[in-house]
Amino acid sequence: MAWDFCTEPEFEAKLEWMRAFVRDEIEPLETLDLDMDTFRRITDPLKDEVRRQGLWAAHLEPELGGGGFGQVKLGLMHEILGRCIYAPSIFGNNAPDSGNAELLAVGGTEEQKQQWMQPLLDGKLRSAFSMTEPGAGADPTLLTTSAVRDGDEWVINGHKWFTSNASVADFLIVMAVTNPDVHPYQGSSMLVVPVDTPGVDIVRDVPTMSHPTHRTGEPGGHAEILYQEVRVPFENVVGGEAGIGQGFNLAQKRLGPGRIHHAMRWLGQGQRAFDMMCERAVSRYTHGSTLAEKQMIQDWVAESATEMQAARLLTLQAAWKMDTEGASTARVEIAMIKFWGARALYNVIDRAIQVHGSLGYTTDLPLEFMYRMARAARIYDGPDEVHKVTIARQMLKRYEPHDVPSEHVPTRRRAAVEKFADYLDAASLNS
Ligand SMILES: Cc1cc2nc3c(=O)[nH]c(=O)nc-3n(C[C@H](O)[C@H](O)[C@H](O)COP(=O)(O)OP(=O)(O)OC[C@H]3O[C@@H](n4cnc5c(N)ncnc54)[C@H](O)[C@@H]3O)c2cc1C
Repeated sequence: MAWDFCTEPEFEAKLEWMRAFVRDEIEPLETLDLDMDTFRRITDPLKDEVRRQGLWAAHLEPELGGGGFGQVKLGLMHEILGRCIYAPSIFGNNAPDSGNAELLAVGGTEEQKQQWMQPLLDGKLRSAFSMTEPGAGADPTLLTTSAVRDGDEWVINGHKWFTSNASVADFLIVMAVTNPDVHPYQGSSMLVVPVDTPGVDIVRDVPTMSHPTHRTGEPGGHAEILYQEVRVPFENVVGGEAGIGQGFNLAQKRLGPGRIHHAMRWLGQGQRAFDMMCERAVSRYTHGSTLAEKQMIQDWVAESATEMQAARLLTLQAAWKMDTEGASTARVEIAMIKFWGARALYNVIDRAIQVHGSLGYTTDLPLEFMYRMARAARIYDGPDEVHKVTIARQMLKRYEPHDVPSEHVPTRRRAAVEKFADYLDAASLNS
């Protein structure tokens, strides 16, 4: 039997080290209002320690400087990193850089790997992924940004937004239509665009629910960008000549793992909210008992624990399928965990806030920030509804139309009578 939910002891020791490191060295940083330089001075030695432990960029294969852990182990690691928003960057696998490095690893030419991917992995460059447009998000076939070949160059024109981290990035990976005469799935390509290329205009970082006072140029922003007659060398198309028209294929390769990595991190965020909720439930006395003794609160604890356990098992099972059969075969499982995980996270944080009452609503606790961040999880990397459509379509493919339902009892009974006729006497048939 291969069903096994155990973690091997050597790996469990690594996880234990990670838990203590995130809790003791990284989580305290959340309480400080640090400028970027001070943050870097504090976190550079932490990154060195992570490298020494062999845990840097765990999502990548060893030949790319990663640990080559595979998705299941990565899931258990990301669960720990997900507790704190700073932890992924200190472990060398923060979005969007991690996804872009993976994209260049699977689809880039050797030169692109040298020029863009390696410095990204070494933490020397930062990147952003520029796909969504004000008029095209959940349906990327509506993208209008174009890249037209002109001799040895591409000329890019378009309007993007929600390009996370673009205002602090060194280069952008831009999805553009390179052949408008075929279906977008075959007519789109990805291009590497250095941010300082003439014609790249970072209009602003759009303030959001999670960062309402965000100023353009700070990490974590979501940039609106105009591309006006932006010229990049022909070889900047990801994958070179062979990459022309491969934009959607590459996007799938990037987004599949990216989605499950988000889901893995949500497990850690959800657990942290759950821990706060339970701690408060056993601590707060009101109306004659602690909150923990009230059935309505017990209901929330039970619902939350079960939703999170379901999310954890769905995530690890999807990860196992990716490890054993490849990312493309786990499409449905990834879609399931993308929407279920986001919802579980949102529900648990919401209940944790409620259990804390007015305190939960204040910035004296991290819950209100976690709640605002969690809301976006139901939208980015494809909104819930689109993932449900993917799941439903795949499920429904397994069924044929029937004029009479295949479970129709009178019809089945007639067939059963015929099948067992030798055993049935007239009396039993009539009874
Ligand atoms: C925090 C954050 C970070 C992001 N980072 C990036 C990034 O780095 N790079 C990037 O390119 N993009 C990024 N995005 C954009 C993100 O990928 C898009 O928001 C997402 O794809 C949805 O597109 P949209 O916002 O245009 O919504 P729309 O396409 O306008 O959809 C709006 C709503 O319509 C409904 N809907 C859509 N399709 C269907 C359907 N088939 N059936 C039923 N209902 C449907 C859903 O409820 C959906 O929420 C980010 C978004 C957020 C919130």
